[in-house]
Amino acid sequence: MRVDLHCHSTASDGALEPAAVVERAAARGVDVLALTDHDQLDGLAEAREAAHAARIKFVDGVEISVSWRGTTLHVLGLRVDPTSELLVDGLRTVRAGRLERARDMARSLDEVGIAGSFEGALQQAEDPAMVGRTHFARYLVEIGAVPDVRGAFRRYLVPGKPGFVPHRWAALGEALGWIRAAGGHAVLAHPGRYGLSAGAMDELLREFCGGGGEGIEVVTGSHSPDQYGLFAALATHHGLAASRGSDFHGPAEGVELGGLPALDPRLRPIWQGWGP
Ligand code: AMP
Ligand code: MN
Ligand code: MN
Ligand code: MN
Repeated sequence: MRVDLHCHSTASDGALEPAAVVERAAARGVDVLALTDHDQLDGLAEAREAAHAARIKFVDGVEISVSWRGTTLHVLGLRVDPTSELLVDGLRTVRAGRLERARDMARSLDEVGIAGSFEGALQQAEDPAMVGRTHFARYLVEIGAVPDVRGAFRRYLVPGKPGFVPHRWAALGEALGWIRAAGGHAVLAHPGRYGLSAGAMDELLREFCGGGGEGIEVVTGSHSPDQYGLFAALATHHGLAASRGSDFHGPAEGVELGGLPALDPRLRPIWQGWGP
């Protein structure tokens, strides 16, 4: 079975509409797909319908932005009930403040000679309330300041660079609570990206498990093969299920839908027992 439990649409910072993401996944042989837009459930209905038409299994998902000890983490909620009031209200509070942050980012970019980035980023975002760093990155590419999205992050949008503005997202316990309230399974997304020491990662995983977290992404677009091994070992050590997801954002931006190796068969997949 080809399973991809992490990708984005125009409902957050993906380049394709929800239905187009699903059709592309189906065309690439994906059998089980979760749409996991950032802090947003709006794309799910359209994607679910498209999956029904394409005869692939669809999983309602979300990727929640979390602040933990000063580091931004992403927590996936899989098989969530998109009508859960706690989840819907919680995500609304997480989204609030994105516009304000975007204004601060633009002001800071102004100071290094990048003009018009607030309007430019908004133009890239389908929903202004969802404006984020990827939209700034696409604007920076558009005006020729950098050759590609990766370069835009490296030069302007990561901590320490002029377009980065610290932001306070949800607390870890809150995000886990919303996912649980919505009947979903919480999975720690791309743990290799956080730059945590082994000790801090161990503490994070204990806290994550204590709050009801069930899984960890092992095979994902931003992990190296070495990291597949490292996080497979941590999954086993902490009794967590393993997940696999491309983190697809658009054609020619990183990994393709369904385009990753299978999980190590010794791991327990998060989708085990989810039914046909
Ligand atoms: P935001 O929630 O606005 O801070 O944006 C986070 C998003 O930026 C992530 O979900 C990725 O899509 C993207 N992103 C973060 N770091 C990088 C990077 N180094 N290269 C490319 N995209 C990145
Ligand atoms: Mn993103
Ligand atoms: Mn992420
Ligand atoms: Mn993602």
